[in-house]
Amino acid sequence: MKDLHAEVWENCLKVIRDNLNYQSFKTWFAPIKPIKLENNILTIQVPSQFFYEWLEEHYITLLKKTIRNELGPTGRLEYSIVMEGSYANDPYTIKMPASNRKATNNPAVAMPIDLKNGNAKEIPNPFIIPGLKKIQVHSQLNESYSFDNFIEGDCNRLARSAGYAVACNPGKTAFNPLFIYSAVGLGKTHLSHAIGLQVKNSFPEKTVLYVATEQFIQQFIDAVRNNNQNDFLHFYQMIDVLIIDDIQWLSGKEKTQDVFFHIFNHLHQKGKQLVITSDKAPVELKGLEPRLLSRFKWGLAADLQVPDLETRIAILKKRIYKDGIAMPDDVLEYLAYSITTNVRELEGALISLMAQSSLNKKAITIELAKQMIDKFVKNTAREISIDFIQKIVCDYFGIPVDSINSKTRKRDIVQARQLAMYFSKKHTKSSLAAIGLVCGNKDHATVLHACRTVNNLIETDKQFRLYVEEIEKRIKF
Ligand code: ADP
Ligand code: MG
Repeated sequence: MKDLHAEVWENCLKVIRDNLNYQSFKTWFAPIKPIKLENNILTIQVPSQFFYEWLEEHYITLLKKTIRNELGPTGRLEYSIVMEGSYANDPYTIKMPASNRKATNNPAVAMPIDLKNGNAKEIPNPFIIPGLKKIQVHSQLNESYSFDNFIEGDCNRLARSAGYAVACNPGKTAFNPLFIYSAVGLGKTHLSHAIGLQVKNSFPEKTVLYVATEQFIQQFIDAVRNNNQNDFLHFYQMIDVLIIDDIQWLSGKEKTQDVFFHIFNHLHQKGKQLVITSDKAPVELKGLEPRLLSRFKWGLAADLQVPDLETRIAILKKRIYKDGIAMPDDVLEYLAYSITTNVRELEGALISLMAQSSLNKKAITIELAKQMIDKFVKNTAREISIDFIQKIVCDYFGIPVDSINSKTRKRDIVQARQLAMYFSKKHTKSSLAAIGLVCGNKDHATVLHACRTVNNLIETDKQFRLYVEEIEKRIKF
């Protein structure tokens, strides 16, 4: 017999299928998995946050209607977003074999046990699993972030091959810790998962753990609150390959740095592997203790650079191949050509394009890609800086940019300075004080005064208003 939730979802799908074209259905509904039906709430699993947002934005009415049809007026829908295809619901729980569970009233909930006195504790302790010879750790690895799916290019050759070497021989190479750093969206998280997956593949007996630094911090805070810091420490000291992502978040968190320092030392001494990622090279990290930074330099620090055009095309090709999508080569090349600095954005553009085409029932063409990129790039990529504004304003009046920072009270320069302040206030998130600082070392009151003056002039002086409109256009290209 079929589970009820599966049956309900299947009925919904029948209606949805009738209301959509084939491509949209296949793109947005086929990958959804029904998980459970409880209290008249149907939970469905979607592959990503993006997916969820897309469904909410575009199909909410249809979804609501079909759910109500099936479950009546109180019927509701909930999403479960997974990062990891194969594991169930909560990626942060550690899985216990059923036989080792202490029976509780609710057999679905494993009650954590306090090792020392053997009592069931009320506060969940996620770190220690009693009575097990071998700990079972949920590695938190995403299967799709494999080495196979990580395209090699000049931009990442060193980091990739060091990562591979580490994965084949964890703790035994000179690359310990392996420290991977880059700007956002260039593959740090992907590569660090790839290492973990590869280790698990080659050494199934090894305990691998991927943890985001924020998660590590939160776990530590909880451990302090629940007074089980030792369990926390022991848990981490048992790991064979510890991957800690975005270490820069430890900045300023002294207590957590301290405990991480101990974990690091313990693991390193025992020949366990550490993989650390960061948005900066160790020497550039701020707010981290020197003793920790010096350890980060023990192994190898390798960076990921922006991929060149060829690599970007290869990344897109791999991605559409994996997703089973067909897309003309010239469109792919156009995307790779237009989005240059961030692989995540590149993939975002690809997904958007697919979505556009399936929703509007348009074929994927260069024209569609162009329209989409125009919107996409304008919406996401460009952040206007004060520097940029100063340059536009000075260029407009034909004066050198440094004159804004000079002491001069010449009328045209004063005006340019005031305009730079006005536009900076309008187009950036900087505070008045911060704007004043970089526009001639003035205080916030001067900036405020400048903004008022410009506003007044816009209302009273036609010529001035034209200047402002012209500059405004240039700022927003
Ligand atoms: P970071 O952690 O540096 O911000 P991610 O690892 O999250 O970046 O990468 C962003 C996206 O780009 C991911 O979907 C990842 O799979 C993809 N990506 C980055 N580099 C590559 C590469 N060399 N080959 C294939 N995909 C890549
Ligand atoms: Mg990352």
